[in-house]
Amino acid sequence: RDGLEVRDVVVRYGETTAVGGVRLDVAPGEVLALLGPSGCGKSSLLRAVAGLEPLAAGSVRWAGADLAGVPVHRRRFGLLFQDGQLFPHRDVAGNVAFGLQMAGTPRPERARRVEELLDVVGLRGYGRRAVGTLSGGEQQRVALARALAPRPQLLLLDEPLSALDRSLRERLAADLRAALVTTGTAALFVTHDHDEAFAVADRVGVMDAGRLLQLAPPAELWRAP
Ligand code: ADP
Ligand code: ADP
Repeated sequence: RDGLEVRDVVVRYGETTAVGGVRLDVAPGEVLALLGPSGCGKSSLLRAVAGLEPLAAGSVRWAGADLAGVPVHRRRFGLLFQDGQLFPHRDVAGNVAFGLQMAGTPRPERARRVEELLDVVGLRGYGRRAVGTLSGGEQQRVALARALAPRPQLLLLDEPLSALDRSLRERLAADLRAALVTTGTAALFVTHDHDEAFAVADRVGVMDAGRLLQLAPPAELWRAP
């Protein structure tokens, strides 16, 4: 089986059941949004897929292989959070190149890949800029390029746009989707914002109280009251 398979996943914090048995698939290249109110368990599910939270029950598989016991850094998944947490002492190209450098990608290939990714996120020519001189939206674009550079099998995004102005978010949501489609990257995208989920995703999973209530393409979802 290709892609991500989440089966009956339960995540607990002590007495609190944050995720109460979720089942979903993400196909290769598919963008799936997890939409729901604050506290419904979206982040916990994402973190469990990433390997950042242990499963109390259930399983997570990639391409048919069970990821139980596989640590975060061995999963070949990319992560992007609300605050992209760029390295302030590196320039834009240095940030994008970081994962490639860690992986030992030779310099000429690294440079090509950095150029390509800056293009994908709409920051052509920004390579030598200091990250401190960029706007919040530009910084998240750099963080997106950095996350995509090592060609992750799956990109996990937790509210990556929620620190930005609403006007900016709309544009960035569209550009983010375009970047994922262009690079063919599968993604699980957590958000509490209805419009954002609809703009970004091929399918939207609606969560409430640790459960997945429905999972469908945006056009087929019934609207919650
Ligand atoms: P969402 O991402 O939808 O806002 P979360 O997954 O962050 O939801 O939280 C789901 C539930 O788990 C909430 O009740 C939250 O308070 C609880 N929770 C999340 N993280 C922790 C933690 N580290 N320790 C204890 N409870 C937590
Ligand atoms: P170094 O600069 O020492 O090679 P980095 O890995 O931090 O270390 O650099 C990132 C890569 O981006 C480098 O291979 C560099 O050649 C390349 N690069 C240089 N200038 C730019 C630019 N303006 N835009 C994009 N990439 C660039």
